[in-house]
Amino acid sequence: VGDIVELENENDQESTMINDIHPRRNYIVRTSPHNKNQHHIIAANINQTLLFATLKDPKTSLGFIDRFLVTAEAYHIPAIIVFNKIDLLNEMQYDELLQIKNMYEQIGYTILLISVEKKIGLDDMKALLENKTTLISGHSGVGKSTFINHIFPEHHLKTQEVSDWSGKGMHTTTFAEMFDLPFGGQLIDTPGIRELGLVDIQQQELSHFFPEMKALIQDCQFNNCIHLNEPHCAIKKAVMDTPSKITEHRYMSYLNILDSIEKKSF
Ligand code: GDP
Ligand code: ZN
Repeated sequence: VGDIVELENENDQESTMINDIHPRRNYIVRTSPHNKNQHHIIAANINQTLLFATLKDPKTSLGFIDRFLVTAEAYHIPAIIVFNKIDLLNEMQYDELLQIKNMYEQIGYTILLISVEKKIGLDDMKALLENKTTLISGHSGVGKSTFINHIFPEHHLKTQEVSDWSGKGMHTTTFAEMFDLPFGGQLIDTPGIRELGLVDIQQQELSHFFPEMKALIQDCQFNNCIHLNEPHCAIKKAVMDTPSKITEHRYMSYLNILDSIEKKSF
């Protein structure tokens, strides 16, 4: 979905042919379930991607969020994180969420705190989606269908029971659907795909996809620094000296992803 194509009517006027596909501004792929070496383009020309997350029922790990952000950066697709179900949080959990929000905002990401069920923050959501093509992602059970149903009550997408959020055996279909938003713009949903597709990232370039690191890497002594054990590394120095610039949490995520690249599993 999302391709812009040229159509031509056949002489008999009964059938239409796709003559041309315009160059794609961007696209996301997934590996074929049948052949790991084959990639399918599942959505193209995306303005932004919106990750649904929850701190509770289920808890989305920050590691997962960071991997998502890295992939979005590699695809050059701006990412927004929406924490849903804030109605379930007690005061302490809400404070924790505010700290998380603050951490990602410092890096430059847009974070929304919402409750679809209690209709909190939905106007801000609408403002972000208006007139844009937005890809929605996130684990099962975080409220994506509930949100889509809220915007399109006529669609009646099936919402999942939250007791099923282990996700196993659910949503086995893998395709993308695009909905026109009533207030302008489109939503792309990819049921069954929680992460953006795979991107081939080299260890050397990983820090380019952490915006707060990218800003400092020219200060590392070695231009091929992977910010692990090298001397005079500006990234490690920032983690130690100015954690407001690079938090320990984000650096740990960086190390985890770096490690998985080495094992070729990212
Ligand atoms: P999806 O798998 O991401 O599409 O998640 P669903 O939309 O199926 O939602 C999973 C469960 O979370 C359902 O039981 C919803 O009613 C519930 N849910 C969705 N949004 C909220 C919310 O804002 N607050 C609470 N407490 N529950 C919600
Ligand atoms: Zn370095």
